[in-house]
Amino acid sequence: MVKAEGVHKSYGAAHILRGIDLEVQNGEVFCLVGPSGSGKSTFLRCINHLERIDGGRLSVDGQLVGYRQKGDKLYELKDSEVAVQRRDIGMVFQRFNLFPHMTALANVMEAPIQVKGDSKAVARERAERLLDRVGLRDKMGNYPSQLSGGQQQRVAIARALAMEPKLMLFDEPTSALDPELVGDVLDVMRDLAESGMTMIVVTHEMGFAREVGDSLVFMDGGVVVESGNPRDVLTNPQHDRTKAFLSKVL
Ligand code: ATP
Ligand code: MG
Repeated sequence: MVKAEGVHKSYGAAHILRGIDLEVQNGEVFCLVGPSGSGKSTFLRCINHLERIDGGRLSVDGQLVGYRQKGDKLYELKDSEVAVQRRDIGMVFQRFNLFPHMTALANVMEAPIQVKGDSKAVARERAERLLDRVGLRDKMGNYPSQLSGGQQQRVAIARALAMEPKLMLFDEPTSALDPELVGDVLDVMRDLAESGMTMIVVTHEMGFAREVGDSLVFMDGGVVVESGNPRDVLTNPQHDRTKAFLSKVL
């Protein structure tokens, strides 16, 4: 579903991604861990083409992200074409970024109506189903300020799912939450994983990675240091940098 080959990204003189190679299979829960500043968020943003890569190749579902290839040459896609690619990729951030002036229901209905041109009736039916699925059947009429952080994050997940993405990116979705609210959000993610969704999850929740993850990559300094089955990497890390990191977070 996602293939990165030698992906590089710099901000000015700061060389952040230094040749990322990895492959995410269909239906896989792919966990990305690593120290602060190692480039995890930057990499997710490249997948979604919120950032442009400077070198290497990155493809989602067999399509190059942001480029079209003709012969040996790459041509940048137009903004409208990038927007079409991005529709299929849902993203959930650490901060929930809900529209504050809209109810939970309206937040979930918004993008399908505005971006896909769905009718209100279709968007509402889907939004109600998704909010029910994330356990918020009785909170649909609440505004974000009337929801807990964990509830807001579940609305954000429902909102991303409303676009019927083929890939979901999660960037530390629980790290801004009070500890007692983390479990409900992880349960929703677990349910989503069981439904077969392909997910890339940046997280410090090693329990989740171990139980739900199919693959785990440890990133440091803009490269993949170690990867494998989460249970193997977490219990028997091979590299000193992985060991040092895990000794701090486990
Ligand atoms: P964390 O665990 O703290 O979220 P991360 O692994 O997600 O860290 P990134 O956010 O990808 O790390 O940042 C990697 C590096 O890139 C950092 O040194 C950061 O300062 C730098 N960086 C990120 N975004 C930008 C930007 N828009 N402009 C310049 N530098 C940036
Ligand atoms: Mg980050």
